[in-house]
Amino acid sequence: MKLVFLGPPGAGKGTQAERICEKYGLVHISTGDMLREQIEAQTDIGRLAGELINRGELVPDEVVIRMVMDRIAMNDANRGFILDGFPRTVAQAEKLPEFIDVDLVVNIDVPMEKLIHRITNRRSCPHCDIVYNIAVHKAEICDKCGRQLVLRDDDTPEVAMERFHVYRARTLPIINYYEAKNVLVHVNGDQVVEAVTDEIVREIEKGCL
Ligand code: AMP
Repeated sequence: MKLVFLGPPGAGKGTQAERICEKYGLVHISTGDMLREQIEAQTDIGRLAGELINRGELVPDEVVIRMVMDRIAMNDANRGFILDGFPRTVAQAEKLPEFIDVDLVVNIDVPMEKLIHRITNRRSCPHCDIVYNIAVHKAEICDKCGRQLVLRDDDTPEVAMERFHVYRARTLPIINYYEAKNVLVHVNGDQVVEAVTDEIVREIEKGCL
């Protein structure tokens, strides 16, 4: 199974990708996580990505495409995977068929006015990478390891606004691209986490199994 999860920043792509990967034994390929790993490891890509991410801008297509191609070529990706955060531009989407055929593209819809709250309430554990919403999970401590949760540098209101702007200009056109290819389904992301997962599972079972 080769799936793509699309949606605006804060739609819950990462949370849902984790849950669906666990259910079907797929590999979760998140370009945002891969870029943050590069930043932490202080590589050349990390230095370039760090500046762009903190401004809410996109990392150049060729850098991200290379990273995804290399990741998909790894053995574990044979099990099937979810691409989370890729493609994010039409150029990236157009490149993808050169190395894989996507089975299903899941677009997670959430009204724009809800997203800014989700993003500014989002905290993650620097150790486990688990993401929490502090409007729900009041204690800013990781359930699993007890560490203090942190706000991502690009989840401040100012940077989040720029990310929405970039999303509308660069990523939204991908929806038309995949609609024309008849591989796109929309799910309602404005529900509790479990209900969104159930809806995605139903779409996968209709479209891929
Ligand atoms: P995410 O964790 O998916 O929200 O991604 C965080 C940031 O990483 C984005 O705001 C972009 O700056 C960068 N990024 C992630 N995926 C891509 C991509 N496919 N193309 C370009 N930049 C990306």
